[in-house]
Amino acid sequence: MFDTVIVGAGIAGATAARLLHNAGQNVVILEARDRVGGRIWTDRSAGFSVDRGASWIHGLEDNPLTEVISELGVETVEFTVGSFQAGGRPIADYDEKGIVLDDEASRRWVADVDAADDLLMFAGATSGPNQSYSQTSERVLAATGWDEQRKERVRAFHRHRTEEQCGAQSTEVAARGLVDDTVDGDEVIFPGGYDVVPRSLADGLDVRTGHAVTSIAWSNSGVRVNTATESFSARQVVVTVPLGVLKVGAIQFTPALPPEITGPIGRLGMGVFNKVFLQFPDRFWEKGIYAIRRHGAAGFPWHSWYDVSAVSGKPMLLTFAGGAWGREIESKTDEEIVASVMLSLREMYGESVPAPTAHWITRWGSDLFARGSYSYIAVGASKEDHDAIATPLAGVLHIAGEATWSAAPATVHGALLSGQRAAERIYGAPIPLASMRLGAAHAS
Ligand SMILES: Cc1cc2nc3c(=O)[nH]c(=O)nc-3n(C[C@H](O)[C@H](O)[C@H](O)COP(=O)(O)OP(=O)(O)OC[C@H]3O[C@@H](n4cnc5c(N)ncnc54)[C@H](O)[C@@H]3O)c2cc1C
Repeated sequence: MFDTVIVGAGIAGATAARLLHNAGQNVVILEARDRVGGRIWTDRSAGFSVDRGASWIHGLEDNPLTEVISELGVETVEFTVGSFQAGGRPIADYDEKGIVLDDEASRRWVADVDAADDLLMFAGATSGPNQSYSQTSERVLAATGWDEQRKERVRAFHRHRTEEQCGAQSTEVAARGLVDDTVDGDEVIFPGGYDVVPRSLADGLDVRTGHAVTSIAWSNSGVRVNTATESFSARQVVVTVPLGVLKVGAIQFTPALPPEITGPIGRLGMGVFNKVFLQFPDRFWEKGIYAIRRHGAAGFPWHSWYDVSAVSGKPMLLTFAGGAWGREIESKTDEEIVASVMLSLREMYGESVPAPTAHWITRWGSDLFARGSYSYIAVGASKEDHDAIATPLAGVLHIAGEATWSAAPATVHGALLSGQRAAERIYGAPIPLASMRLGAAHAS
């Protein structure tokens, strides 16, 4: 008999387990995959790190991860365009014809996005729950009086923003779902791979990989957590499986989850956001830039490329496919996807752009243990729906994970804080993150 069973060894599960273990509990983590980390997944098959899931810490200020990485002594590199910003760092902007914008035109475009964002912030905050981000964007653009090209460039940027930040179309995302899109402080990425964080958290704990949980029976007196072949009894359980897994009912709860939890699970959206990394024999793009952006209608389907050469030490670009396009590429072959990206790059940089020497492509939508990339506030849902999923049941059943943290859903730090909240509810008192003693775990 365990004190607590944790379902899922992503950052939320690893955090909850580590805190409860250090507080003296007998804890076991049941993880369906053959690895720890979940949507943090570092692929080292090529001899260097490629983060197929999360890459960025979105803002070092007031972020619990800042302390975690400093305790672990993990190397990071500043890369402050991870939250789909128009400016702030050098970006090569290309127009609809594939010609680079001069500095003045780039500055004007960033100023247009900023002006529209000020209006959007207000319009989003005062919008009704059934209004979409695209409706609000149209309203704001209509009020600017700009010519059609200026409007179309900002409109395209708004569409790409929900595809990247939510993994969904701007017509699917609630207008108030992206009101506070600001990031506090610099963003960083991990040359040695992001997975060092969840792996360090789980280090030394009882983690059972290859254990897909199929059902959970719960009552006031405890829980029974079942896989296809084994059964684990405990006083309580923390379920950290992604929202997409909860949505399809992959785990059967007895008694069934009540409407105050199934309602939010149904209303929130699970977006799809995929990554395409391309490694090249030589660099053909500008030096000193963080990203390449294609404007207007020409930015469909590919619009942004991030220079991630600092991670691998090789010339490498990373582009994204989010929302409907993210779902669509999952049924294409790697060759079709790479050819499509290369078509866009050659429109800007010419036919002499060499073929990539290697590529990495994710398919998070068809991943059975994720069923999408991250959660978002869909039209008809609300911010409160995130936290409502984590409402404790009978004092024994707790749900955690990025989708349950309304202050920062879809992030690693949001997931981490949701794991801490579940641990504190079980323990019945605050458990500071410093009690994880990661420095000691990492050094041993
Ligand atoms: C492509 C991509 C890029 C991203 N980029 C960033 C970024 O740059 N910065 C950022 O902050 N966030 C980013 N995110 C989001 C971030 O990765 C997640 O918010 C965070 O990792 C979620 O952690 P979690 O613990 O809630 O869930 P998960 O990491 O998904 O952990 C849940 C675990 O449950 C397991 N599981 C599922 N079903 C079962 C079952 N039946 N039985 C047992 N175990 C099960 C899963 O295998 C998984 O290990 C990105 C996500 C993706 C997909």
